[in-house]
Amino acid sequence: MTANDFNDYFPTWCPGCGDYGIWASLKEALVKLGLEADQFVIVFGIGCSGNMNDFIKCYGFHSLHGRAIPTAKGINLANHKLPIIVIGGDGDLYGEGGNHFLHACRGNFNITVIIHNNEVYGLTTGQVSPTAHKGQPSKSTPSGIIEVPVNPLSLAISQGATFVAQGFAGDIPELTRIMVEAVKHKGFSIVNVLQPCVTFNKNHSYQWYRERVYKLDSSYDKAKIEEAIGKAMETEKLATGIIYQVSKSTYDENLPQLKKEPLIGKSLKVEIKNLLEEFY
Ligand code: SF4
Ligand code: MG
Repeated sequence: MTANDFNDYFPTWCPGCGDYGIWASLKEALVKLGLEADQFVIVFGIGCSGNMNDFIKCYGFHSLHGRAIPTAKGINLANHKLPIIVIGGDGDLYGEGGNHFLHACRGNFNITVIIHNNEVYGLTTGQVSPTAHKGQPSKSTPSGIIEVPVNPLSLAISQGATFVAQGFAGDIPELTRIMVEAVKHKGFSIVNVLQPCVTFNKNHSYQWYRERVYKLDSSYDKAKIEEAIGKAMETEKLATGIIYQVSKSTYDENLPQLKKEPLIGKSLKVEIKNLLEEFY
């Protein structure tokens, strides 16, 4: 397939939205991975990012708000041979779904999570999300947000994710490379994408990000957790690339009952009819 073969309805995102760059990178990454539309699944969250469900041709599941990760975990346990990608926003995956995010890191589930991080709830017209910078005013915080922002990178590293990366929606070639490596990685992979919301986050424009992002070079050792946490905590400059990557066993590898074949390959030895009769 070519990238254009994955096109479905044309996106309804605002002109200039960073979601276009993430969409383009994902399609390119799927081509580079050699995946056909019926060889993987994407679970979408709720939000502007989750609307990608209608814009890309593949097997997809548009989940409930904040529940894309547990849905993906269920799919992973049903068929652990299937590549699984989650697409969602910062509000969806770090806010409503923050609890699920944390526990999926701990389990090292073999899932790739791509987060469109624009620091606002875009679809509901611009309330601050958990990654908004302290003091940022919005419709929901007219005097500025009081809480400090969630740091998704250090959170993921410290809680057991084995692939933690950051990309920028304005750099499609680099984001494509990161996504390819994230899907190839065995274990829980997160790609936190710095995504301008041109309509509701005027503070953090493409220009604002371009003045701050820098690429990690080949001298950087992504296996060292202390260095990775240091990179994750930077605020003045924003590193892009693979910040942390280690190899550990995945959740499904620790389930002996899945060793021989995926759950979907097992024959049902129970008679559902007899089981149901117990409840009549
Ligand atoms: Fe993109 Fe923001 Fe428009 Fe949503 S509201 S489509 S995130 S620019
Ligand atoms: Mg958002």
